This record gives sequence, C-alpha cells and structure tokens, in this order.
Amino acid sequence: MRLTKIKVVEILTSVIGEDGIPLIEELLGKENVSEFDLATKTKKDIKIIRRMLYLLYNHNLVCFTRKKDKQKGWYIYYWTLLPESIRFNHFKMKRDLLERLKKRLEEEKQELFFVCPNECVRLNFDNAMNFEFHCPECGELISQDNQDEKITHFEKRISELQKEFDILQEQRKVRRTDTRTKRKEVVSKKKVTARKKKEVKKAKEKKPVTKAVPKKTKVTKKEISKPKNTKKGSIAKKKVAREKASVKKKSVSKKAKKTTENKLKKK
Ligand SMILES: [Zn+2]
Repeated sequence: MRLTKIKVVEILTSVIGEDGIPLIEELLGKENVSEFDLATKTKKDIKIIRRMLYLLYNHNLVCFTRKKDKQKGWYIYYWTLLPESIRFNHFKMKRDLLERLKKRLEEEKQELFFVCPNECVRLNFDNAMNFEFHCPECGELISQDNQDEKITHFEKRISELQKEFDILQEQRKVRRTDTRTKRKEVVSKKKVTARKKKEVKKAKEKKPVTKAVPKKTKVTKKEISKPKNTKKGSIAKKKVAREKASVKKKSVSKKAKKTTENKLKKK
C-alpha cells in the first residue's frame, strides 16, 4: 500500500475522530512540529490538541521529542508522524475487522435470530426463549429474522476485505525482504571494503621490502615477519645497503632505494 495522504488521514481519524483532521494535516510531511504551533494553526485549544496527540501516541502513530524552554522553565513537545507504524496499524485494523466479520458470519450460519417488529432488539434463540419470544423493550412478539440476506451481505464484505488484506500482506512481505536484503547488502559492502583495505595494506607493506632487496637474506626475513615496524625496516635496509656496498658499489643500493620510493609514491 502506498501511504497516501488520504489514507493517512483515514487511518488517523479512525483513532481521534474527524475533529482531528486539521491536526493531522498540519503533521503530514513535517517533522518535530511544536504543539503550540499545532494549536495556533488549527485554531484549537492546546489541551484539545494535546489530548489528540496523546491518543495518537498511545496507538504508536506519532513520536515526540521535548525541549526545555529556558525562559519559562517548562517542556515544549515536538511531534512527528510515524509512517511505518501507521501502515502497520492499517494492516492490523483490516486484519481484526476481517476476523470479526468471519466470526459474525459463523454465528449467523449456526444460530437462529429473532427480531422485534419495532426494531428494538435482535436476540439469539437462547435469549429469545428466556424472554418467551417477546421483546424485552416493548413487549411485542418477536419473530425469526431473515438471515439469508445478512449471510450474503457478510460473505460479500468478507471476500472484498480478504482481497484487500491479501494485497496488504503481500506488500508487507516484499517490504520485509527488501529491508532484509538491504541490511545484507550493507553488511557485505562493509566486509568487501574491509577486505580491500587489508589487501592494500598488505601490498603497501610487502612490495617495497621484497623488491628493494631481491636476494633473500636474513634481514629480509625479519622485515617480512615484522612488516609494521618501519624503524627496524629502514635500519635493515641500510644494513643491506652497507652489505651490498661492501660487495658492489654504493650506487646499486641507492638505485634500489629510489625505485622503492617511486613505487610507494605511485601507490
Ligand atoms: Zn420491541
């Protein structure tokens, strides 16, 4: 169900009555509306507005935040409609109504009813017998009601409502799986970025070490096992350079260092 304004008004007026329509219209599409603003705009007494808001609050259809007025020392309440709760409330109302109608239909099919010609009462068989088939209000003789009409009426209403309800239920399912997949997506995204970060970190730590010192000496092993310790790493590099210098010329190690630096910059 798309929660149209008309639908919201319909659902909320079922709780606070038609007098509440201006209030509902002031709340629609807004957040944190001060109760005093609501009273002014609807031209209603603040007490009436508060009563309606608390009624909506008891049905979990609105929420509030409050702030202390520093000058006056009292709290001001700011109200916001809760669309998800309104939707659920609508769903629940339909579900309850459907249940009630089904129960009434069963009663109508299983029991006999008696009515007063003056339309004072309608009694089931047991009650009718208790009053000896006379109206307890006006004393007229009561007669068996034509229940077929009522049964067809209930059956029609139930089938209509059942269709509406099935659609609502289907939409609820879709919405639920939507939020579930969204949640999963967020989790997997987090995992992917975490993995990527790890990979980048590893690459940054490992690449320069292995490429700067191509020959696997004792020093490089140390560097790989403790990649985070950069201080030791740089000392080790110098050591390697010195060792190399003793064999070849110093310029070789410097070259190696430079290529490392360049690669780091590129990363
Ligand atoms: Zn009567």
